[in-house]
Amino acid sequence: MRIPQPPVRRRLLPARSMRRRWFAATVLACAVTLAVAGCGGDSTASTDKTVGAGSSPTFAAGTTMARLAAAGKVTVGTKFDQPLFGLKGLDGKVAGFDVEIAKIISAGMGINESGITFVETPSSQREGAIQQGKVDFVVATYTINDKRKQLVSFAGPYYQAGQDIMVKKDNTTITGPESLRPANAKVCSVSGSTPAEKIKQYVDASNIVLFDVYSKCADALRTGQVDAVTTDNVVLLGLADASGGAFKLVDKPFTTEPYGIGIKKGDIAFCQFIHEQLTAASADGRYAKAWQSTAGKVTGTTPTLPTLATCS
Ligand code: GLU
Repeated sequence: MRIPQPPVRRRLLPARSMRRRWFAATVLACAVTLAVAGCGGDSTASTDKTVGAGSSPTFAAGTTMARLAAAGKVTVGTKFDQPLFGLKGLDGKVAGFDVEIAKIISAGMGINESGITFVETPSSQREGAIQQGKVDFVVATYTINDKRKQLVSFAGPYYQAGQDIMVKKDNTTITGPESLRPANAKVCSVSGSTPAEKIKQYVDASNIVLFDVYSKCADALRTGQVDAVTTDNVVLLGLADASGGAFKLVDKPFTTEPYGIGIKKGDIAFCQFIHEQLTAASADGRYAKAWQSTAGKVTGTTPTLPTLATCS
């Protein structure tokens, strides 16, 4: 059984003619496959934004892509309290670079925004959510590392961050990780995160405060319960930006944090499909646009897609 995939977007075709071709191809493909698989409710997207950019026109039976495309729905784990990457607004919508990456991947299966359900996956819950099938994939400032690779697989990396430290704007004593112990600083991070592990070599256990989400660390910094917050620079940048000038970054990244898309362990076909989508989005400008409309509003510089790792 082969499931049709939206065609590659061809920039030279006028939008109307492109839509006509896409519509004709979809009708034909649906006629062939409807009886066995359906045509993924939201795949008849009417705008460029929702048309996928995958290079393969069909999905092999039994693959994650075939299943999701046929359902026309996908469940994605992300953060809900991290400005710039994944922040749930008062309107109930989640916004950020991770959310845009999830949309790019979903569009490649013909699933538009309305077919995506975002569920909150705090740092310590990401592997479990994937293993238990609560989510189809996770895009959540999720560092690829060997420990996690025992439990899940990763596509990517799609971005590279680095661990940094955030303090109150008038703090001059905390200047980097080495300054934390001499200052007897209380440092906040999040359970199940890589920064919470790494900071142990710079701070005594009694001075480490762990919450489930970073917004609680920002609150603790504001109220003076802790002296510093540590996690990835881009996560801190979002929190500092949202603080209206109350917080600043030390701006001395001391780790590398390659962000991956977490998927079921060993789902190599899905990993390769995600790589195709990222590569296509990087080539046609959607990756840059995703950054510029989110994190880029604060960071300025637009990254290029890092070299993708081999799927395993
Ligand atoms: N990237 C790090 C991690 O995956 C820190 C950010 C986070 O907790 O999401 O643990």
